[in-house]
Amino acid sequence: MAATVASLRKTGRYRVSGKTGPTTTKPKTLKELLGILDPMSRLPPPFRPMGANSSSTDCNSSSVGTIVDMTGMNNVLNVDAYNDTVVVQAGVRLSVLSEQLAEHGLELAGNYDLADRTVGGAIAGGCLGPAIADEGTLFSAQVLSMRVVTAGGKISNIESSNKNLLRAFRVSYGMLGIIFEATLKVRPIRGFVATHRRCTVKQFAAASESLAQANVGIKFFLMPFRDRVYLDLRRHSPDARATRKIPWKLKDWGESTVLPQIFNSINRIVPVSGMRYRIIDEISKATQGIVNNRLVRSGDNSTALGGKGRGEKTPLQYSTWLFPAADFSIVVQTYCEFCRDIQRQSGFRCDMPTVGYRLSHDASALLSPSFDEQMFALRAVSTQTEGWEDFAIDFAEFAEHWGGYPMFNQTRGLSPAHAHSALAQRATAFRKIRRQLDPDDRMMNPFLSQYFL
Ligand SMILES: Cc1cc2nc3c(=O)[nH]c(=O)nc-3n(C[C@H](O)[C@H](O)[C@H](O)COP(=O)(O)OP(=O)(O)OC[C@H]3O[C@@H](n4cnc5c(N)ncnc54)[C@H](O)[C@@H]3O)c2cc1C
Repeated sequence: MAATVASLRKTGRYRVSGKTGPTTTKPKTLKELLGILDPMSRLPPPFRPMGANSSSTDCNSSSVGTIVDMTGMNNVLNVDAYNDTVVVQAGVRLSVLSEQLAEHGLELAGNYDLADRTVGGAIAGGCLGPAIADEGTLFSAQVLSMRVVTAGGKISNIESSNKNLLRAFRVSYGMLGIIFEATLKVRPIRGFVATHRRCTVKQFAAASESLAQANVGIKFFLMPFRDRVYLDLRRHSPDARATRKIPWKLKDWGESTVLPQIFNSINRIVPVSGMRYRIIDEISKATQGIVNNRLVRSGDNSTALGGKGRGEKTPLQYSTWLFPAADFSIVVQTYCEFCRDIQRQSGFRCDMPTVGYRLSHDASALLSPSFDEQMFALRAVSTQTEGWEDFAIDFAEFAEHWGGYPMFNQTRGLSPAHAHSALAQRATAFRKIRRQLDPDDRMMNPFLSQYFL
């Protein structure tokens, strides 16, 4: 009798490949990491490194292949308070690094919001914040050298003398190899004073050109449906040294934990959208007024690090686009009209305020969003999934029309054609380096392939 598939299954000799999907592996040592990427390894390509997984695109995942979770390599190896450097493994969270630096009176340069993200993800993905203009924009600008395991499973040291290669590895989204260790430049803790302003979108647009030039750190919360912008402006000040952590913790808790959870509940229990959004906007306004104006007047880069990641109880949907500062005055006003149009047409709107930053010029990475000029970031954020994907695609269409620049781990709905034109020759240069370092495309998943193959 011919064996049927069913009878073979019962013998246990025939294995049906049941669930398909990627394998996830979490190396704790360099030896384990080398074993994963070894050409003889049994693990299937593509290999996608993952940090805290706070990205909003498929850059760090794959429906097949191997996800390399780097959070198991999480030691701060050496703090050198004499030379102001720190050697750190890629899986260390920024909050942990920041605390250890503070014990030595040191801090990271720049100002980065998401405390839970990893050093590797902050170097290889976008990592921007309200950095004061003279401190640079990208977290990866602080990287003096790094050690990586290449796509071919070999250790490579990217030294500071090899400027071009270092520039390619910063913001490389894990396409050139897996970073396992980095030496970062740090500095003695400097204080800043934070001032807060509230204005209309028109007033903000009118001020945007001078804000783009100012030597301040700029973060803003934009409420397109209330014609309001809440500005958080940070300036260096020696007087602001003695800063306390608690007000910043409360501010962070209010903005990134309490608000999303409250909005999620309101979305469930208030069925009438007009009333629902009125309540949501009033709460946003009150929170901005209280947490910013009353709570925090000064800080430093170790106390002001805040923000929870995705994968919390209330995951946030977000998509970030960057726009040249020279056009921002028009773009920000048109963006608000765009949000209102979308709500009229589809009923969807983001419940959280749009978050923005000013990015100073930073050419330290080949794929830096502010490689050529100063930019402003707009990050649309929502606690709701229904209607979000369509909104993200419409936002991408809007942004592409206005010459927006993407971050490949934070920008949703980006078309390959726009990515090619936005990056221009830099994409060609990056692709050339990528092909040399990964000729067999072992690090490329379908998402990244559409932009970088
Ligand atoms: C609530 C919230 C707020 C945010 N705020 C900001 C913000 O203010 N500014 C900002 O710029 N971004 C922000 N983000 C986006 C995101 O947090 C950052 O881009 C962050 O740097 C990603 O770090 P991660 O550890 O989560 O990395 P992941 O998301 O896991 O990975 C990011 C990219 O880096 C690669 N990668 C990770 N580890 C390694 C490694 N060891 N070697 C090589 N490649 C690696 C991945 O493959 C992927 O392409 C925010 C996200 C959320 C959810």
